[in-house]
Amino acid sequence: MFGLKSESVLKLDQEYHELDEYQGKESRWCPGCGDNGILAATQRLCRDEQLAPEKTVFVSGIGCAARFPHYMGTYGFHGLHGRALPVAQGVKIRRPDLDVFVNMGDGDCCSIGTAHWIHAIRTNMKMVVMLHDNNIYGLTKNQASPTTPQGRITSTTPYGNLLKAMNPLTVTLGVTNVSFVAQVVEWIPDLLYKVLREAYNHKGLAFVRILQRCPHFMPTAWDQLLSNPDKIAVMDSPDGVQLSDATAKIYKTRVAHDSSDLNAARQVASLEDEVPVGILYRNEMVPTYDELRRPQRLPEPELTEEILNRSFDRFGIFPSTSSKAGD
Ligand code: SF4
Repeated sequence: MFGLKSESVLKLDQEYHELDEYQGKESRWCPGCGDNGILAATQRLCRDEQLAPEKTVFVSGIGCAARFPHYMGTYGFHGLHGRALPVAQGVKIRRPDLDVFVNMGDGDCCSIGTAHWIHAIRTNMKMVVMLHDNNIYGLTKNQASPTTPQGRITSTTPYGNLLKAMNPLTVTLGVTNVSFVAQVVEWIPDLLYKVLREAYNHKGLAFVRILQRCPHFMPTAWDQLLSNPDKIAVMDSPDGVQLSDATAKIYKTRVAHDSSDLNAARQVASLEDEVPVGILYRNEMVPTYDELRRPQRLPEPELTEEILNRSFDRFGIFPSTSSKAGD
């Protein structure tokens, strides 16, 4: 047998990954764009979790937020409009050992990508899905998206948007197999980072809606929240995210919440006078797709060696033991 002895299996030296290893190209988002803060929090998360850059993948569709993979020093896939999730699922199903992140805008996710969004939630593959929600299509210059407020004049609604905005939280919380839903605003970096880290450590699909400033097309979208921090209701649950003292002094509105209660999460997600932030729902008992289709998720070291041995046996060239010199 052309086998490997266990002591001869190559082991790469553990190395510490610095923050700059997660930084890709220089961002081209507009000055003041909230995507910059989301990028910074995500790079910090990758550093603090010590994700191997070569085993981390960022997948996006089309839109301003979809530039995200270019700005990460990891692998990435900048795909088609609305199709980030099926690409991410393809990556995950073939390589469950990779850490997969998805970045979508509100148009990308909640309009053209709606079917993928619903079914990705239902499939519950382990990945972090970030919805950068700025209430507008930025890249295509001020077109109304599903989360654009009613009455808003845009290039596609010159007489004002007729429809009430969709609530991506209540939609997500209504899908079978939903297992993690959170909401944050990108201008509270402490909360943004902590929620993303919880999302990363969730077993299945973690959906995080991030309210994001677009100073170019929606300069006043979040004025009420920015000028009145009391409008931001922080979820207060025993297993929730704890704010730093400095952040807690500014954001004093608290809602006692049980994040394991799906109906409570739906109620909180429907609040209209205040914007709930934090983890709305978390259920680690929902099986992931990988657990359902392949109960033994990752090969044990012995199994890995066995698989390698079989490959070597298949392709190895073995000199005949019976041949003699001069034959
Ligand atoms: Fe950001 Fe808006 Fe500029 Fe797009 S248009 S980069 S969302 S500020």
